[in-house]
This record gives sequence, C-alpha cells and structure tokens, in this order.
Amino acid sequence: MAKCSICGKEAVYCAKYEGRCYCREHFLRWFDSRVRRTIRRFNFFGKREHIVVAVSGGKDSLSALHYLYHLSRRVPGWKLSALLIDEGIEGYRDETIKDFLRVVNELGVDYRIVSFKEEIGYTLDELVRLGYERNLPYKPCTYCGVFRRYLLNKHAREMGGTVLVTAHNLDDVVQTFLLDLYRGDTKKIPRLGPVTGVSSHPKFIRRVKLFYEIPEKEVVVYALLNGIYPSTFVECPYARFSPRWEIRKFINRMEDLYPGSKYMLLKSLLDLVEKLKDKYKETPKTCKICGEPSSGEICRACQLKMELGILDVKL
Ligand code: SF4
Ligand code: ZN
Repeated sequence: MAKCSICGKEAVYCAKYEGRCYCREHFLRWFDSRVRRTIRRFNFFGKREHIVVAVSGGKDSLSALHYLYHLSRRVPGWKLSALLIDEGIEGYRDETIKDFLRVVNELGVDYRIVSFKEEIGYTLDELVRLGYERNLPYKPCTYCGVFRRYLLNKHAREMGGTVLVTAHNLDDVVQTFLLDLYRGDTKKIPRLGPVTGVSSHPKFIRRVKLFYEIPEKEVVVYALLNGIYPSTFVECPYARFSPRWEIRKFINRMEDLYPGSKYMLLKSLLDLVEKLKDKYKETPKTCKICGEPSSGEICRACQLKMELGILDVKL
C-alpha cells in the first residue's frame, strides 16, 4: 500500500506525473491549493459575484458546486446558484437529476432546472430522430452542445449571474484541443482558454472552467472523499458516437505511458490560445432571430432549428 509523501499515512491517491502520493487529508489540501491557484492565476472571480454553476448531476459538476459552496461561504460578496439543463435523454439525465437534487438540497443552494422540451420544443432524443429523418450530418453531441450552451447563457443571465462556472477539467480541455486539431479547426482554439466571453457582448455571461488544471481522476477522488459521487453510474447513451470517445482513450494511454502528457498538451494549448486570440478575434453580433449573442448574423441554435425544420422564419 502506498504511503502519503507528506505524513506517511495510507495514501488515497498517487500523482504519477509528480511522483507523490497523498492521504485523505493531504489530498484535500493539495486539491484545494491547486484549484485556488487556478482561480488566482486566471482571475476567475471578483470580490462581488453572483456565481452560477452549470450542474449536470455528474461527478465533475457536483464537485464544482460543492467546492464553490465551501469557498463562497468565506467570501461575503459572493452569491452561489446552480443551473441544470435537462436535455431529455431517456434513462440518463433523469438519473443524474436525482443526484443533482440531493446535493443542492443538502447544501441549500438556489437552483433552476431548464428543459430542452420546454425551451426548444423537443427533447434531445426527439431532435436526434428528427435530424436522422432529415439526413443531417450531425452527431447527437452537436445538438446537445449547441442548445445547452445557448440555454446556459440565457438562463444564467436571467438568474442575474455575473459569471457562469462550468466543471470542465484538464482531460475535457485537452480532448477538445486534440479534436479541434484533428478537424483542422484552429479557429476554435482561442475558445479553449480558461475564461471566455470577457466583454464580448452585453448578453454574454463570462464563463470560467473551474477544473482547468485538474485531471479528471482527481475530481473523482474529491467527489468520493466528500460523499458526493453520483449514486448510480450511468453513461450518456450518445457518448460513444462522438470522436471524443477515441481521443479520450488515446490521451489516457499516453498519460499512462508518459505521465505528465496531459499537462504538456495544456501547456501547448495555452501557448496557442495566446498566439491565436487576436488572429481569430470574433466581433460579437446579435442573432437576428432570437436576439441572443452570436458569431454570425444568425446564431448556431437558430441555424440548427432551421435545419431541423422546427423554426419557421422569414428573414
Ligand atoms: Fe450531450 Fe454528448 Fe454529453 Fe451525451 S455525451 S450529454 S449527447 S454532449
Ligand atoms: Zn438565434
């Protein structure tokens, strides 16, 4: 059994990339100090904030909410709320909503649940079927991602949020980085920075990725040690249809063989974000149809609705 590198007690986690192990107490201290360092390094929060945490009910977002709940109790100018988007994925989201409700009720955090069905008119399952019938080239994650981002921004703003926190961790970020590279989509790289949406549009809420520098495994350990790990392990049935699935396996294998690989990818990403941010600077526009922030004349959500035949507009 491995021993804690600090106190010699039984270790709960070993970070191969730094050759150290941690017991429960020292893991939690180490985790906290690194998340705080990320918050300071990238200037995530000001003295007065209404922080809206995007929570799905999975381990990452429940950990983000739990972490910020405890941190916000020590900062008088902070208010904390949670926002869950129910995409309507049968057998999956209904399960994670139970874990979401358990944790928000235990912590006593204000929350809002918004569903695709009420806002878009269709569940994700129905949108996927519609897209298939129309021979659209998109994978389920495309509909899910576009409409979720759209609704998170809209509702975080309506709730009075000043900053929207997502629980993207180091693994998520470097996976998306490689996906963008494989697709030749370098224009999207500046969006992979730790903070997005700064002063870009009056209706756009600044977004921060709380676990930007924390590997997924460490968020799992945090969730387990704090008793907030989801009670049932369910996986989204659409996850396997995304190329992310294979990229994830590849990056994890590289990390096993060459510990520290994920941090090296992050280093390259941050370097590229700096280099490309002015080159691909987007001038924010307002969608002619829905009035929400958009990179073009019509936002991606309205474009997708038109392609799906669920938005009938004459411009
Ligand atoms: Fe949505 Fe894809 Fe994630 Fe499932 S795997 S929740 S469809 S983004
Ligand atoms: Zn729109």
